[in-house]
Amino acid sequence: MKKWVLLLILFVSVVMHAYAFELIRPTEKKSIVNTNYAFFYGKAKGYESISINDERVYIAPNGAFAHSVKLKDGENRIMVRSTYGMQIYNIYKNTIKNQEIPTEDFSPRKAYVKCDNTPLRSTPVDAGLNRMSHLYQGTSLLINGSKGSFYRVFLSKNKQGWIAKDAVVVVNSDSEGMGEFLGMNSERFKNAIIQTISFTKRLPYTIEDTDKEILFRVYNPELSEDSVYNINIPKPDKYIYSVKMDEGEYTFKVKKLTENINECTIVVDAGHGGAEKGAIGCLGDEEKDINLNIAIQLAQMLKAEGFNVIMTRDYDSNLSLNDRVQIAKDNEADIFVSIHLNSIPDIPMDIHKNRGTSVYYFNKNSKDLAESLVKNVTKTLGTRDDGVRTASFAVIRPTNYIGVLVETAYMTNPLDSVIYGSKDFAQKAAKGICKGILEYFNSEG
Ligand SMILES: [Zn+2]
Repeated sequence: MKKWVLLLILFVSVVMHAYAFELIRPTEKKSIVNTNYAFFYGKAKGYESISINDERVYIAPNGAFAHSVKLKDGENRIMVRSTYGMQIYNIYKNTIKNQEIPTEDFSPRKAYVKCDNTPLRSTPVDAGLNRMSHLYQGTSLLINGSKGSFYRVFLSKNKQGWIAKDAVVVVNSDSEGMGEFLGMNSERFKNAIIQTISFTKRLPYTIEDTDKEILFRVYNPELSEDSVYNINIPKPDKYIYSVKMDEGEYTFKVKKLTENINECTIVVDAGHGGAEKGAIGCLGDEEKDINLNIAIQLAQMLKAEGFNVIMTRDYDSNLSLNDRVQIAKDNEADIFVSIHLNSIPDIPMDIHKNRGTSVYYFNKNSKDLAESLVKNVTKTLGTRDDGVRTASFAVIRPTNYIGVLVETAYMTNPLDSVIYGSKDFAQKAAKGICKGILEYFNSEG
């Protein structure tokens, strides 16, 4: 008799398992988080209905669903109930105390930058759009304060910056003399202006993209608090710019984007790849595959238009962010388009509002292309216009190309999952991106 009961229980649980919903997230039944919301999404099976903490969850025609729950401090018990069963999630919300770290002042000390491409920031925070420049290895700095994991860098009497403590070596005595100005030179080409300025050692610099000009400034604070060398280069309507350092000599270049389609190199970057799957959709599909499908079709379309096209990857391979940037630099890319699908928003307050196409850029010179892309992609895909935004993503930070990152749709949004799951999604997305690039390229400034 007991045997039969056991078998019956086994049978019922197998049936329940076969028909119950699948959650992509959360992956654990018990977790500790710092966020204000818990995000649930996945796939419902058959005709089941789902509720989370007694709130009915919308299920898209393909079974995709998503829901967020506001968390209270400490223990949260969340019940996910379906027609076929129930699961309990225990999520513990940590309360983070926002303690203000004090700034410490000290008398000026010398420090050297350890590696190339070290960000000099306007605030002591490792995030956001606060980068003033990227310093070269061996750049000589004066530091006169600290806050948290940052040193304050003295540049001139009215300019300061911040640099990560572990990015510099602080020295107490220094045999190297003061940096002396050696000379400067300006060259004007048909499509570019190049300025060089040299010193006896590597000094810090900043870049600012203003309305009409790119301002390069080199600081020599050891000499005096007024020692600032300003180089203002006027900028055309569509422009890219770069900095190079060779010994103590900076080369600043502002270049007009080519108007000749055959001279324009576009790098098409399929986001993620290999072990890095990217976002996982409600139905369990992986972002890297969809990105690649779009990228392959986009590359073909752009080539047909006459552009010179380079793909960062054309199969399912692992590629670091640095690799992607290096490919663009090695090929002297004019435009860099990174292709992605979006995932969970930072604050999933109303996850059903987080859907559609958005385009990210970091530098001002890329804003117009971002706008053209969001306009054209939403048109071909029929997605919601989720706008143009700035974000500090490594692949779009360089200034020596126009860099954008397209989030074609949200993988975690049930309604978007119906759109990106359709057969011609990749082709339509590619078409919208291609149109957007052409419209930008052919526009009159
Ligand atoms: Zn992505």
